[in-house]
Amino acid sequence: MFDSVSCTYTYVLASGIGREAYIIDPVKEHTERYLKLISELQLRLVIAIDTHTHADHITALGSLRECSGCRTVMGEQSKAECVSFRVRDSEVLHADELTLRAIYTPGHTDDSFCYFLEHQGTRAVFTGDLLLIRGTGRTDLRGGDPHQSYRSIVDRLFTLPDETHVYPAHDYRGCTSSTIGEERRYNPRLANHDESTYVDLMRNLKLSRPMQMDVAVAANLACGESVKDRR
Ligand code: FE
Repeated sequence: MFDSVSCTYTYVLASGIGREAYIIDPVKEHTERYLKLISELQLRLVIAIDTHTHADHITALGSLRECSGCRTVMGEQSKAECVSFRVRDSEVLHADELTLRAIYTPGHTDDSFCYFLEHQGTRAVFTGDLLLIRGTGRTDLRGGDPHQSYRSIVDRLFTLPDETHVYPAHDYRGCTSSTIGEERRYNPRLANHDESTYVDLMRNLKLSRPMQMDVAVAANLACGESVKDRR
């Protein structure tokens, strides 16, 4: 599902009708929409994941946990006080027989993880804001580091099989998915670039601050509750 304000993609994953489900990178404003879809598909939401502490939208982790009783998951480096479960690198999550392997991939933030799915011959990786389609997530905000971004992408993601589908947390041009092989060959920030060229490029992007940044980061450290909600 797509949030048109922040251009965020949210994914619901399950192995079939009536099964346990994950949701990845949900946006608070769409909580009702997610719950409706999950109920229509007769799924049971068991795990809600944020790939990292988002700066451009408020997470639905808290609201989904309240409504469904699901567990909320972030990486072990996350400073969010309210997650129910923190994953480490290579840790495997389970929802029925659908498994997700957490890959620690700092660079966009220092708490960024990607999640690798392998199911009945299909491979997919949910890349958060680390690797985008023909782009990469900015590295100039809280905990970002272009060296780490390069190493995470090249050493961790580009060593996955070429046919692995890539599902990012954002796209600003209307693309919905790619593959590791495509990005390895055609991502203009990475193809034929060494680490120092990539780092120079990332340091000279001159991007503006995300509009919701101060509100979003503070709220996301509390799983999407605003300071007002918490009083
Ligand atoms: Fe982000």
